Amino acid sequence: MSHESIQTLLNANEEWAQSVIKNTPNFFSQSATGQSPKVLWIGCSDSRVPESVITSSKPGDIFVHRNIANQFHLNDDSALSVLIYAVKVVGVEHVVLVGHTYCGGAAACLQAAKDAAADTGAPLIARVQSLDLSACSENEALNKVVETNIIMQVDNICKSEPITTAWADPNVKKVTVHGWMYDLSRGRID
Ligand SMILES: [Zn+2]
Repeated sequence: MSHESIQTLLNANEEWAQSVIKNTPNFFSQSATGQSPKVLWIGCSDSRVPESVITSSKPGDIFVHRNIANQFHLNDDSALSVLIYAVKVVGVEHVVLVGHTYCGGAAACLQAAKDAAADTGAPLIARVQSLDLSACSENEALNKVVETNIIMQVDNICKSEPITTAWADPNVKKVTVHGWMYDLSRGRID
């Protein structure tokens, strides 16, 4: 990114903050008093899937974790700490795991699965190798990988300690886990 691109971001931030204050004078002072988002979004780092923009959300609406190809592994301290904090401290009621079409991470996984020498120790690659994609076009195959990945990561979230604990304890707020697919060529969550 050139310095020009950086300056564009800073200028846009200044304009945005001014327009928010104009419409809602106490927005930022209110924001500084705390957060109580109802949703944790676990999505891909891809620049084309900015959760707040595509859901028309405001600061304070969504708790977020994003990484390449929206992974949630039970041994990933970064993802796990976000989930623990979101459920136990913030008190979110929904966890949404969001995959998307044209995902570079899923494409890399599909490529690795096709490579006979690939290490099948990675659970998603092994799962993709078990799919019959022979009748699929390249794009259909990629969509199947994205879908399979969403199902696997939702499954991991459901097996994680903060979720199983919340489900087992009637005194803890109910948490629902969702798997979503965002079609970035249409701008729609399916
Ligand atoms: Zn992606």
